[in-house]
This record gives sequence, structure tokens and C-alpha cells, in this order.
Amino acid sequence: MKIQDIQAIKLLLATPKKIAIIPHRGPDGDAMGSTLALYHFLLKNNHEPIVIAPNDFPDFLAWLPGSETVKIFEKDIDNCTKILEEAELIFTLDFNALHRTGEMEHTLAKLKGTFIMIDHHQKPDDYSAYTYSDTSFGSTCEMVYNFISFLDKKEDLDKTIATCIYTGILTDSGSFRFPGTTGNTHRIIAELIDLGVENTQIPILLFDNSSYSRLQLLGRALQNMKVLGEHKTSYTSLTQAELDEFNYVKGDTEGIVNYGLSMKGIVFTAIFIENKEEKIIKISFRSQGGFDVNEFARSHFNGGGHSNAAGGKSLDSMEETLKKFEDLVTKLKI
Ligand code: 5GP
Ligand code: MN
Repeated sequence: MKIQDIQAIKLLLATPKKIAIIPHRGPDGDAMGSTLALYHFLLKNNHEPIVIAPNDFPDFLAWLPGSETVKIFEKDIDNCTKILEEAELIFTLDFNALHRTGEMEHTLAKLKGTFIMIDHHQKPDDYSAYTYSDTSFGSTCEMVYNFISFLDKKEDLDKTIATCIYTGILTDSGSFRFPGTTGNTHRIIAELIDLGVENTQIPILLFDNSSYSRLQLLGRALQNMKVLGEHKTSYTSLTQAELDEFNYVKGDTEGIVNYGLSMKGIVFTAIFIENKEEKIIKISFRSQGGFDVNEFARSHFNGGGHSNAAGGKSLDSMEETLKKFEDLVTKLKI
């Protein structure tokens, strides 16, 4: 982050402010962890922060400290709009373009407050007065840790803030496996554990709390998996009917995409999930090594993300979408 920007933000934060903190739509562990870490930090510094998520977060994140204070924009548009209009500062975390907030984009675009972006996605849009954007980081949470350090406020870190930061680093790094995981990441993790983070309990809260029906749904996704061995690619899909059959609740499909990469010789995988209500097929892409799924998602499926983990969507039917994907893959040199 630029020294001048840090100085300017220090000045802005020198007096109590009304502050809105926004994660992306479909908030994940990093989006919720980073916004709540910042929330607790700002609260400690006498500000009036509030996290406003575009839509609800999954249940497996509901134990995060402060999650009960989070407002959900789509459930309470009038009240949330009023809070946003009164906010002097608006932090946008873990996304790079206002359209990542869905319908909330139109409200955000009209706000008079000062925007500050903290994010690790490629090609950030130019909507913020201050931008801390760096794709070399594995998570926005790691950047929030740095942001607090830049403000010379490391002494404010406590177990609550550390727990939120730990969660986002853990989830966005695939449990410390993905390429953005550095020695520095682990040094930060060590500090967070020293602050009291329950590092053996958090993975249980996040990953070992599936319902029986969620495991059955996973079983279906694994059975639906197709392998295009010649192209080192696998993919799977879940229709709305299948989600309904297994009593799908938000969060149930989280992480399923990774199974496609766990097969020997597979370096590119995708999961296609039908959402009848939104009339889209939501897609997650994952790769190992050099194949850039961010580019693939941007070019063909209205999406983006990182080079090894990205997402997108399709407005076509499931059948057409899968056909388009297969056709594209057969032309790829992976
Ligand atoms: P996931 O597959 O876990 O939903 O997302 C993987 C990564 O891609 C995340 O960093 C996420 O923010 C990004 N991503 C997911 N869906 C989209 C999308 O529709 N558009 C863009 N630009 N990025 C996405
Ligand atoms: Mn992230």
C-alpha cells in the first residue's frame, strides 16, 4: 500500500466515523473473516462500524465472532441503504468490482462516502479512493492483518480479531496448500495462535459439521463426475432437482469442486450448480499449476477470480452449458 494512502487513512481514522464494511455476494470464509476482523478492529478504535453483506452467509460461518451483528442487504434494503448513505467510509473487502455485490451495486455506486478497497483479486476496478490490491496474497484476511500493521496498530490484535483473520487465511488457502501460502503467511498464523486462536477447533467448526444429507449430496456430485483424461480435466454438476432431493441448504456445495482435482493426473476441474431462483448455472473452476482459470472464467463464463480458483455463471441450460464447457476443453492444450 502507498505510504501517502496509509497516511491519509490514518488521518481519516483519527476521529470516530460511521463505517460500512462490505463483503462480496455469496460471502465465504475470507469475505466474512476479513470484514469481521476489520469490524472488531474499528470498534476497538471508537468507530461505528457495521458489516453489510449483499446476501446471507452460510451456517458454517455463523460461529464467527460478530456474525450476529451482520446486516443482510437483500433482506432489509431500506434500512441498509440508509446506513450506507450515512457511512463516511465504505470498506469493500475481498472483491474487485462493485458488480460482485449483485443488486447492491446500484446502491453502492451512488454513495458519497470514501471507498477503501482491500482485495487480492486480479484487475481491480477504479471505484475506491484508496486501494490496497495485491494478487500475490492468498487471502484478504492476510491483507487485513497487514493493513492493521500499516496503521501501527498491531497492539490492537486480540483473540477475536485473530480468530476472524485465521478463518479467512485457512479457508482461502485450502488449509495452507494453495500457492499464495508463504513463509510470511505461516509467521502470521503463528502470531495468531499465540494470541489464543483455537487452531485445532476452527477447522472442526468449518469443515466437520456436515449434515448427513450434505454428504449424500457430495456422493451424488462424485457420481456425476465426468473425466476428460486426454485433457487432464474433470467436471461435475448438480441440478436444482438434485439439490432439492438432498434438502440443500446454503453452504452444502462448498468445497465439493476440489474433489475433481484430487484424481491423479487431473489439473483442471469445474462444478456446475443450477440455481432455478436466480435462473443461472453457477460455476466454480479450480486448477493445479499453470492453467489460468481466472482467464478461462473471464473469457467464457462471465466470471473471474484467481489463476487457480475462479468462478463464473451461465444463463444457458445445464445441458447447453456442459456442452459448451466440453467443447472448450477439447480445444485446450493443458
Ligand atoms: P468459488 O468457486 O469458491 O465461488 O470462487 C473462487 C474464486 O473466484 C473466489 O475468489 C471468488 O471470489 C471468485 N469468483 C467466484 N465467482 C465469481 C464470479 O462470478 N465473478 C468473478 N469475477 N469472480 C468470481
Ligand atoms: Mn478471498
